[in-house]
Formats: sequence, structure tokens, C-alpha cells
Amino acid sequence: MKKLALYWQILIAFVLAIAYGILFKDQVHLVAWMGDLFLKGLKMIIIPLILSSIISGIANIGDANNLGRLGFKTLVYYITTSTLALLSGLFFVNLFKPGVGADMGFVEEVEGLSMAKESFGETLMNIVPENIFVAMVENKMLSVIFFAILFGFLITQTTNKSKTILTDFFNALFDVMMKLTLFIIKFTPLGIFGIVANQVANQDNLGELMSRLGIYMGVVILGLSIHAIIVLPLMLKFIGKVNPIKHFIAMRTPLITAFSTSSSNATLPLTMEAIEHKSGVSNSITSFTLPLGATVNMDGTALYELVAAMFIAQAYGIDMSITQQIIIVITGLLASIGAAGIPMAGLVMISVILTAVGLPLEGIGLILAVDRILDMFRTSVNVWSDSCGAVIIAKSEGEELKV
Ligand code: ASP
Repeated sequence: MKKLALYWQILIAFVLAIAYGILFKDQVHLVAWMGDLFLKGLKMIIIPLILSSIISGIANIGDANNLGRLGFKTLVYYITTSTLALLSGLFFVNLFKPGVGADMGFVEEVEGLSMAKESFGETLMNIVPENIFVAMVENKMLSVIFFAILFGFLITQTTNKSKTILTDFFNALFDVMMKLTLFIIKFTPLGIFGIVANQVANQDNLGELMSRLGIYMGVVILGLSIHAIIVLPLMLKFIGKVNPIKHFIAMRTPLITAFSTSSSNATLPLTMEAIEHKSGVSNSITSFTLPLGATVNMDGTALYELVAAMFIAQAYGIDMSITQQIIIVITGLLASIGAAGIPMAGLVMISVILTAVGLPLEGIGLILAVDRILDMFRTSVNVWSDSCGAVIIAKSEGEELKV
């Protein structure tokens, strides 16, 4: 009998999980552990995977010119797509004005608001870790990436003997990490079953939320859809000369995982596997662009934060001038770069935007209730954009792809 493709296994698990979450609400603990275990497995491999992939990727790129060109293209792609996402969010939030007349009695306390108080300057300063091992323990992705890029680059600057030993070592380490990734990926259907069943069982007031915050959710999802279904595929087709549908098919497993886990970081191992083995991007470009993308390139989060900030302004009856809206776009970009690739990271980062334009921070309480649902959509867009970037950049470097 032919084995059912992983993607179909995941999709079936997803549907069954919804049914389970509704029918066996009180028995959800019987399956929730599978989701926890799966997430732990993914988290377990992230740091060694990022380290070995970036170091081996950069050591294989070889020279400073190639690295500089790749870095430049990657940054241009990240900034362009996030800005396009922000502009489409701005357009729709001004068109539909979802916050006008919002129910202010709905404000909830938000925990961890002070967490995001770190200014952008501090975030930049903190990229350089005091202690690389502490950075790894605390999952400080930007610091780990910074260290890995430097380390990988400096391997290329050493004598032949050290260069060969270290390049071989990190290539071998990366091989093993990829094997481990493939092993964990096999459990994705069970993991997603546990995660989704648990989420469905704990989502009791969906109907009420939809009636109160439906238009706001609609605007976020509409903006995200336009970006994911129109803007990015057009870029794939015309800039990357890649078939968007084939690329989407290659990316199905990581996308549904992003949707279920709401974490770009947890999805990263699957994204890397799909980009390298299904889309056919070289190891060095995959290793360079994707870990960086999972941490800094968040189109979905950028759009979401802009819509949320404008929604709060509208709800409080505060008119945003053109200058203030431009500030919202710029700080939205910075906040999306600063947000970590973990669930609900984008929510607290909205405080950066609100502070910049003088809006009340408690406003975040207005949208808290639906954040978890919107997180699923924006995380999928974040991962989709990272993957589009990887293939567009690979094509521009003259690589032959399978998509
Ligand atoms: N959950 C998102 C991600 O991992 C970040 C966010 O909360 O917007 O990409």
C-alpha cells in the first residue's frame, strides 16, 4: 500500500483534532501532551540547527564579496516585502475603519506589557551577547545568528588546515541536525493533533468574539490574504521566475505547521527541510536566509501590528494624521523585526508603536481576546514570505530550482 503523503496525514490530523476538541473538550489532556512533546522536540533542535546551518552555510559561501551580496539582497527583500504588507494593512484599515464604535467595555488586562519596553536602540545593542552560551540558553536568536555569521565568516579567513577541519566539522554537524529534523518531522501529524485539539477545546467564546471583533479580524485576515495570495506570488513569478503554485505545494507542510503552532521559530526546521529538499535551494542560501528570516522578516506581524494600532486609535476616537500614520508604518516595521518568532510575540510589540504615537497602552487589552487566532494567520504569512525570499534570492544567484 502506498504511504499517505505527510501533508495529507497532517491535514487529516488537523480536521480530526478540531472534531476531538469540540466533542471531547474535557478529555483534551489525553492528547494535549503530544503537542507539547512535539513542540519540545522542535525547540530542542533550533539552537544547534541554526548554529550549524549558518556556520556551515557561510563557510561554504566562501568569500566576503559573495556574502556581502547575499546579505544585501536578503535585507532588501525583507524590508520591501514587510513595507508592502504594512501599506496594504494601512489601506484596508483606513477603508473599513474597524475600530470606529468598538466596544470599549471589552478591555482586558495584558500581562507582560513591560517586556516590550526595550527600545529599538537597546535591541540593537543586545544583538552582541555578553555571553554566547547565555544567549543560547535564553533563545536570543539575533545574538546567536550574529555570532554564527561572524564565526562562519572567520572560518573562511583561517589557514587551509583549520578551514578544512572546521568546514568539514560544521557540515557534518549540520548533516546530523538535518537528520534529526527529518526524524522529528515524522511526528508532525501527532503533534499537530495535540496542539489543535487543545486550542479548539480552550476556545469557548468564539461566537461572541466574532460578533464584537469580527470586522477587525476580517481586516487583518483580508490584508494578510492579499499579501500572501497576490503580492508575494507576483514577486515569485516576475522577480524570481518561479511558479508560485509549485512553490506553495512544496511549502504545504511548513505552512500548516506554522498555522498550528503560531511560531516561526518552531517551524524553522520544517521550512529549511522543504526549501532545500522540495524547492531545491542550495544549502548555503537556505542556511543563510531562513534562520535570519524566521527572526527578522515578519510581513504578517508587521501588517497585523499596524492594523491593531490603527484599530486602537479608532476605538479611542483619536484621529491619526498622515505624519502619525507614517510613524506607525516605520515603527511597525521595527516592531516586526524586533518580535521573536514565538506565539503572541507580536502582541506585546504593539506597545512600541503605541508609545511612538502617544496612544494608550491599555488599548492592547481590546484586541487580546482574538490575538491567538490572528497569530495563526500572521505566522503562516511570516513563514510564507521567508520561503519566497529564499527561492527568489536563490534564483537571482543563478541556481536551478525544482519549482
Ligand atoms: N507568532 C509570530 C511568529 O512566530 C510572531 C508574532 O506574534 O507576530 O512568526
